[in-house]
Amino acid sequence: MPKTPRLTSQGMSHQDVLAKMRELRADDANWREGRTWSLVYNAGEDIRRLLAEAYTEFMSENGLSPLAFPSLRTFESEVLAIAAELFQGETAAGTMTSGGTESILMAVKTARDFARAEKGITAPEMVLPASVHPAFQKAAHYFDVKPINVPLAADFRADVAAMRAAVGPNTVLVVGSAPAYPHGVVDPITELAAMAQEKGVLFHVDACLGGFLLPFARKLGHDVPPFDFAVPGVTSMSADLHKYGYAAKGASLVLYRSAELRRYQFFTYADWCGGIYASPSMAGTRPGGAIAAAWAILKYLGEEGYLKLAGTVLDTARTLREGIAAVPGLKLLGEPKLSVFAFSSDTLDIYALGDAMEARGWKLDRQMGPPALHLMVTPAHAKVAEPFLADLRECAASLASGAPAPEGSAAMYGMLGAMPDRREAADFIRQFMDAIYE
Ligand SMILES: *Cc1c(COP(=O)(O)O)cnc(C)c1O
Repeated sequence: MPKTPRLTSQGMSHQDVLAKMRELRADDANWREGRTWSLVYNAGEDIRRLLAEAYTEFMSENGLSPLAFPSLRTFESEVLAIAAELFQGETAAGTMTSGGTESILMAVKTARDFARAEKGITAPEMVLPASVHPAFQKAAHYFDVKPINVPLAADFRADVAAMRAAVGPNTVLVVGSAPAYPHGVVDPITELAAMAQEKGVLFHVDACLGGFLLPFARKLGHDVPPFDFAVPGVTSMSADLHKYGYAAKGASLVLYRSAELRRYQFFTYADWCGGIYASPSMAGTRPGGAIAAAWAILKYLGEEGYLKLAGTVLDTARTLREGIAAVPGLKLLGEPKLSVFAFSSDTLDIYALGDAMEARGWKLDRQMGPPALHLMVTPAHAKVAEPFLADLRECAASLASGAPAPEGSAAMYGMLGAMPDRREAADFIRQFMDAIYE
C-alpha cells in the first residue's frame, strides 16, 4: 500500500482547510494570467464571481427529480429553449448534461436505440471524421457501436466522398464537427447532412466547442458556414455551456430535432423496490449548481455580452494566427477562422518549440496528427497575445540557430507519435495513467 494521508481522527478548522487547499494549488496551470491555452474558458472575474454564487446557491439541489425542484426544471428548460433558438431548431428538444462527453454519449446511445427500434439494426456502426472528439470513440466503446474512422481531406475537414463511401446498411449515425477541436475548422455540414438524409441515417453536429461562439460570430459578420438545425438532415447537436457559454464546469446540452427522437435517450425502470426510476441522461444525481450557474450566465451576459466576448475572442485569435504565420518556419494547419487552431513547422522540431515556450511559462497542447502545437483562445488571452508572440518569435529563432531546447516532453511525444503500433501507444498511456492515479 502506498503511504497516503488517512482520515485524521480530529478535523481541521474551516480556515486551515482552505489554507491547505490554496497551498496545494501552487503548481496548478496558471490560467488566471492567460498562460494556459486549453482547459479553462476564462471570461473575467465578474463572471467567475457570479458563477460561484449561483453555483453555491444551488449546490445541494438535485436535478434528478424535476418534480422536487421546479426551480431547476425552469433553469434547464430555459437554457434548452435559448439554445434551440440559437441553433434554429423550432421543434428541438433535449436535456442538459454534465459535459460534452456526456452529451455525445447520449447522442450515440439515442441513435443506436432509434436504429434498433425503427430499423432492426443489431450491429450498429457510426461514421466519424478523424478529427472528431475522442468522446465518440468512448461512446463506441461503451455502447458497442463500431466506429468507422474516415481520414480527413487535405484541408483538415471531413472528406464528404470518403464519408459517403463508409456509410453502410448498419450505419446508425454520421457525425460532423462545428468546429473540430484539433484544427478549428468547421466540417462541410450541409453536404454531410444531405448525404446522411439521402441514406436515411441520423446526423449529429458536434458543436460542443462552437455552439456558443458561432451564432455570435455570424452576427458579428464573420464567415460562419451553416452548422445547425436550419440545415436539412441535421438530427442532433451537442453544445458545451462550460466552454464558450462561460458557465461553471459540469454544463453542456444535447438537442434533437424532435421530442420523439429524444425519447430514445431516456432511461426508465418501473420494477425497482425503491419505486419508479426515471433518468434523462447518464448521470443519476445531477448537480443543481451546474444547471443554475448555466442559467445565471446566460441571463447575466445576454446577447450583448456574448457578442462582446465573441468579438474579443475572434479578434485575439486573428492577431495570434497572423503573428504565428509571420514567424519564419511556422505555419497554420488548414484555414482556421475561429477561436482554436494548430500550427506546425517543416523546419523546426515543433515539440521542442513547445518545451521552449513551456520554460517561459506558456502551456500549449501538443498534437500528433500531424505534430503540432494547439491554441484555444478565450477573452483572457487578449492581453497576452503580444507577449506570447514575442516569446514565440524568440524561441523559434533560437531553435533555428541550432540552440538546444530546454528539457521537456518533446522526446516522449516524438516517441509516442512514431510508434507504428497504435495499440502499443495506447498501452503506454494506460501505464502512465496507472502511475498518475496511484
Ligand atoms: C471539449 C469538446 C468535447 C468534449 O467535451 P467535455 O466537456 O470535455 O466532455 C467534445 N467535442 C468537442 C469538439 C470539444 O471541443
